[in-house]
Amino acid sequence: MSETESQMESESPSESDSGSPSEPESTAGAESTAGADDAVTAVEQRIIDDAVSFAATVIEPQAERWERERRFAAEAFAALPDAGLTALLVPTELGGRGVGPVALARVLEELAAADLAAAFSVVVHNNMARAVATSGNDRLIAELLPRLVSGEVLGAFLLTEPDVGSDAAAISCSAEADGDEWVISGEKAWVTNASHAGALNVYAQTDPSAGHRGIVSIVVDPDLPGVTRLDRYELMGGHAMGTGGFAFDQVRVPRAETLVPVGRAFGAAMVGIDLARVLVGAMCSGIVRRSLEVAVRYTAGRSLFGSTVADKQGVQWMLADVATELEAMRLLTFRAARQLQEGGDATLTAAHAKKFAARKAQERIADCMQVMGAAGYRRDAGNPLPRHLAGARLTGYIDGATEIQNVVIARRLWDRPAGPLPS
Ligand SMILES: Cc1cc2nc3c(=O)[nH]c(=O)nc-3n(C[C@H](O)[C@H](O)[C@H](O)COP(=O)(O)OP(=O)(O)OC[C@H]3O[C@@H](n4cnc5c(N)ncnc54)[C@H](O)[C@@H]3O)c2cc1C
Repeated sequence: MSETESQMESESPSESDSGSPSEPESTAGAESTAGADDAVTAVEQRIIDDAVSFAATVIEPQAERWERERRFAAEAFAALPDAGLTALLVPTELGGRGVGPVALARVLEELAAADLAAAFSVVVHNNMARAVATSGNDRLIAELLPRLVSGEVLGAFLLTEPDVGSDAAAISCSAEADGDEWVISGEKAWVTNASHAGALNVYAQTDPSAGHRGIVSIVVDPDLPGVTRLDRYELMGGHAMGTGGFAFDQVRVPRAETLVPVGRAFGAAMVGIDLARVLVGAMCSGIVRRSLEVAVRYTAGRSLFGSTVADKQGVQWMLADVATELEAMRLLTFRAARQLQEGGDATLTAAHAKKFAARKAQERIADCMQVMGAAGYRRDAGNPLPRHLAGARLTGYIDGATEIQNVVIARRLWDRPAGPLPS
């Protein structure tokens, strides 16, 4: 036997000392924490552990059913308060958990490994609670915030409209001041948590000639006269997010429900965008990690042409590439998370992380399905990969489409004066 052959034999992934297929590592290819653990406090580690347990006991066993029934993950939201996951971004002095960006990314990575749609629903609710805690007036903090923290009401973020997505400053949903009330008219689209939301953070235009400076953000109760909860969307996947739209017809809301005033609301919507992009990177890492684990396990147990699928070098190399790109997406994601945690500018690093993770999740989950043969394509029989692939697809749109990340990155490439070639 040549040296190379002997080396290959000793490094075969599917043979244990006894010669029977070995049990794959439970976190195949994701043993490294990309330095994340160093930046997590003991309290935060317990919150991450709670998220792991919540994902395993609440999300994982029900996620496929939510998708099959094409409905919001109501059971997950009902169990969220007990798991302590409703107010992760609310300061502790206001009853929240005050989790930092690195630990938050770890929490979302774990939740998404069970189901990305359910995880994103949790993010949207937590963002609403954070917005009320940081921008709300005394009354909103006293009355609405405790209901968001306790999980009595579910939050939603309404910026996108049927005709306006990436160009968010061009929204046309209007808010007219009338005495001490706002009168809101228009339509909102692609609202995560729409089917069950009890508190809507609505972005509306007060003066179309003022562009983004005319935008205000108002808390709207969906039960007010004039508010219509539109039918939920039929999607490729991700129904656990309860995505749908709202129509507003001359809806009267007290001015005291203003969350962020005219002139500052659009900026406030963009304040958390870097963190949101980091969290998408983390969620992509979760679904790729879980898909790799499933593919490794399955290929080690199935035989063809005299050995296991995992014995085929083509398969080993395909999954080795998945493992490498999983490492890369985690490194980019947690680098950006650490920058945010240290108070640095993470706009560029978050854009890199989100773009890379969203693109690679789609490609690499498809690879994991491919090495499993037709079984990878099957939705039942305990295979979560089709659900994760659908989840990966939607990460190409949320919190700024992939092309918008390129706009951010390209802007930094050309943010210096033009000049001649170096001599
Ligand atoms: C499942 C899901 C949940 C969502 N949840 C929410 C939510 O809770 N709240 C909310 O407000 N929104 C939500 N969104 C909407 C999301 O923010 C938008 O889909 C996103 O902003 C893109 O807008 P659009 O889909 O209208 O695409 P458009 O803006 O119409 O863009 C069309 C295409 O053009 C590309 N493009 C844009 N600009 C450029 C450019 N300069 N150069 C090249 N290409 C470009 C885009 O990337 C996209 O591929 C959700 C979307 C999805 C899919």
